[in-house]
Amino acid sequence: MAFSRATAAAVVALVVLLPHLVVAVVLDVGGGVAARPCHSASVDGDAGCLSWRVMVEANNARGWRTVPAACVAYVRGYMTRGQYGRDLSSVMDQVAAYVDTVEADGDGLDAWILDIDDTCLSNLLYYEAKQFGAYDPSAFKTWASKGACPGIPAVLELFVTLQAKGFKVFLLSGRDEETLATCTSENLESEGFLGYERLIMRSPEYRGQSSSVFKSAMRKRLVEEEGYRIRGNVGDQWSDLQGDYVGDRVFKIPNPMYYVP
Ligand SMILES: [Mg+2]
Repeated sequence: MAFSRATAAAVVALVVLLPHLVVAVVLDVGGGVAARPCHSASVDGDAGCLSWRVMVEANNARGWRTVPAACVAYVRGYMTRGQYGRDLSSVMDQVAAYVDTVEADGDGLDAWILDIDDTCLSNLLYYEAKQFGAYDPSAFKTWASKGACPGIPAVLELFVTLQAKGFKVFLLSGRDEETLATCTSENLESEGFLGYERLIMRSPEYRGQSSSVFKSAMRKRLVEEEGYRIRGNVGDQWSDLQGDYVGDRVFKIPNPMYYVP
């Protein structure tokens, strides 16, 4: 009978405890679920910055002077951990698909426009060191003067392809011509950008004017005075791609680091 009582007690204990054990197991699993809000909170934090980045790329946010403080780490991660490279690659796939559909005429007047900063040459190292802070003309000039901006391989590939197809490639940059022309051309050369038709930089008469105004004026000159047909235009800023004579197709390269009007 003692055995029976012990057995009965064990059965009772099991019956009593089983729901608790089940609950405990569920709670343990639930612990993972309970951890989700933390995870979700992190994702939500990034999601806010993702929304901001999409807004920037779509040109809905204009005139911003710095990456929002809450998104500095996000932008660094975006630029350095692979997503920027994937996005850039996707853009360049679209450019390549378009390039396949256009041919250069034999008259030598079919042209492409490529921007330089963060299109042909990367300033990521500079902006990352500056925490993606406000534009600092003096510090940027010091950085650019070193002529050490890494080339962006996917854009170099396009540059080579365009020339092989007979297009004239114009490099159009808002950099100051008087102070940065030599280091810029040397930087381009050292990164493999050779044989372009012309490097056009901001002359003193366009100092203080927006990039959009300056670049529109330069494109107008190419088209109206020199007879070029701009078949394509690639830049990291909307101010590269809007205004007058933008070209038959424009392609926006990602850049959540800074805004140029
Ligand atoms: Mg640029």
